[in-house]
Amino acid sequence: MELRRLGKTELMVTPIGYGALGLPGVSAETLEQAIVGGMNFIDSARGYDDSEIKIGKMLAKTGLRDKIIITTKSFSRDLTGFKRDFETSISNMGTDYIDVMFLHDVSTRKNWNLVRENGLIDELYRLKAEGRIRHLGISTHDDGDVGREIIESGHFEVVMIAYNAANPELEQTHIPLAKSLDIGIVIMKPYGGGVLTDKRSRELGFEMSAEEALKWCVSNPDVSCVIPGMDAHEYVDVALKVLNSDFVSLSKEELKETVERVSIKGKNYCRGCRYCMPCPQGILIPESLKLNNRWEIYDQVEWAQMHMICEEFNATIPAESGPELCTACEVCVQRCPYNLPIPELMKQCVTIKNHNNGHN
Ligand code: SF4
Ligand code: SF4
Repeated sequence: MELRRLGKTELMVTPIGYGALGLPGVSAETLEQAIVGGMNFIDSARGYDDSEIKIGKMLAKTGLRDKIIITTKSFSRDLTGFKRDFETSISNMGTDYIDVMFLHDVSTRKNWNLVRENGLIDELYRLKAEGRIRHLGISTHDDGDVGREIIESGHFEVVMIAYNAANPELEQTHIPLAKSLDIGIVIMKPYGGGVLTDKRSRELGFEMSAEEALKWCVSNPDVSCVIPGMDAHEYVDVALKVLNSDFVSLSKEELKETVERVSIKGKNYCRGCRYCMPCPQGILIPESLKLNNRWEIYDQVEWAQMHMICEEFNATIPAESGPELCTACEVCVQRCPYNLPIPELMKQCVTIKNHNNGHN
């Protein structure tokens, strides 16, 4: 099986690893199946429900700790919280060390300043000197200056970024930059927040399988490891299928054709990743934005279709969680990695609902 170098860490990783983001639907046995099937990289985070605990169970059962690269992340922006997170992570996973410890989702200038001013990077160096972490990592959703500065800062040996056929732009910017600095590149969101999978792509009017989406990412030779979320058994099967196939990178023409096929109409398309939650007003933001997504897809003219969708919307979103409650506080905007203008979209959502009701 192919192994790829994780930049200057010199760790050798399988091109596909386990994105252990929220595992309520799978068991420690599923993780074991993935590892026995060939993956040697598991990425977790303090914020991923019981993910670390299940990883710990799997490690205790299999005794494979030294064969697997384990990473986790802390979302804390203050030193006390970060230290607490680290001790919790290491205890949950029953290990003495973390291979790559990530600062989680440092995507705004405010957070980039906070992690530096509050000593989190110094703490990573201290943990490394003590042998409790092996390498420093950071994840970011910023595709502009903040992401670039993070990569250029010289502190991090691994960077985790979002890249997929629907969002290929980073292959012109962050990926070659990280590669030139010999930083390991881990790719999150290869399914574009779930859009690039069989069922969702059909809903959106194009054909794309999860297998194809993974192959597209792995075809980039600068990528060290792609970590699809695997919150269901079927995604483990897809990942193992690609990993264990005699995989041949897609040609330039095939890569381009895929990008053209999956380009999503409308810049304001919500990927359903839920980073924006919770809303202080209790609004179900991603659920509400599905209405706007469909408005874009149906070209705003297929009223029969939109009428049905609005009925479904009214049945599933209770009034106390509806878009009408938006106060435009912008808390969610700061969290959305795609910079969606959520308050505006909430207004649009209300307009779509009312407009459609006018056609009843
Ligand atoms: S801007 Fe609106 S949707 Fe976003 S957090 Fe504030 S109230 Fe909630
Ligand atoms: S609004 Fe942004 S953060 Fe929230 S689910 Fe949609 S894409 Fe994700």
